[in-house]
Amino acid sequence: MSIATQLYEVQQALPQGVRLVAVSKFHPKETIGEAYREGQRIFGESRAQELKAKYEALPKDIEWHFIGTLQTNKIKYIIPYVAMIHGIDSYKLLAEVDKHAQKAGRIVDCLLQLHIAQEETKFGFSFNECRDMLNENRQPWEHVRIRGLMGMASDTDNEEQIKKEFCALYTFFRELKSTSFAAQPTFNELSMGMSHDYQLAIAEGSTLVRVGSRIFGQRPAARF
Ligand SMILES: *Cc1c(COP(=O)(O)O)cnc(C)c1O
Repeated sequence: MSIATQLYEVQQALPQGVRLVAVSKFHPKETIGEAYREGQRIFGESRAQELKAKYEALPKDIEWHFIGTLQTNKIKYIIPYVAMIHGIDSYKLLAEVDKHAQKAGRIVDCLLQLHIAQEETKFGFSFNECRDMLNENRQPWEHVRIRGLMGMASDTDNEEQIKKEFCALYTFFRELKSTSFAAQPTFNELSMGMSHDYQLAIAEGSTLVRVGSRIFGQRPAARF
């Protein structure tokens, strides 16, 4: 099936209020161009230099989301271009993004990543670590805007398990919305759901799904 057809099928499945981040990591710019011609404008990348190269080569109305693990020494590559950083998993990273955004004269939208899966290898705050971090650092950031939360469910076929994890993240999102972020209506994004579980994520309250292989097919090897 063509990219256009698969993209269309995913877009059709999105209710109002849910946006698609088409995960284009490792794919060449021509592939992104195909999705762009079909009207897709939000793309997700996981390597800083790759995002920069694609930004430079592609139309400027694309909204670039950084969805991977961000190393502090790579922040500078993406700060001028990135619309949203999904994977903030430490106070230190948030503070570094704030510092670079200040230098660039920008305010950068960020999502805090929570660890909701069973696998130890996945990144993110625990719910308690996140509460503590927010309580200890009451709005000291002037150049990052925390727009919501992000999480990845366990890599399993057990749909009940996946639902339970997404539901826990949604519940935590509602909690923060009425506590730490009660005065910030822009805290309104919940990034959860990938190719194999985006429909479950939508049912549990996702506002941003990050879908790659379901649209673009298997990823080529990393080039950066
Ligand atoms: C690669 C990636 C995706 C997309 O995965 P698919 O299974 O191809 O849809 C989504 N989120 C994150 C954080 C990723 O790294």
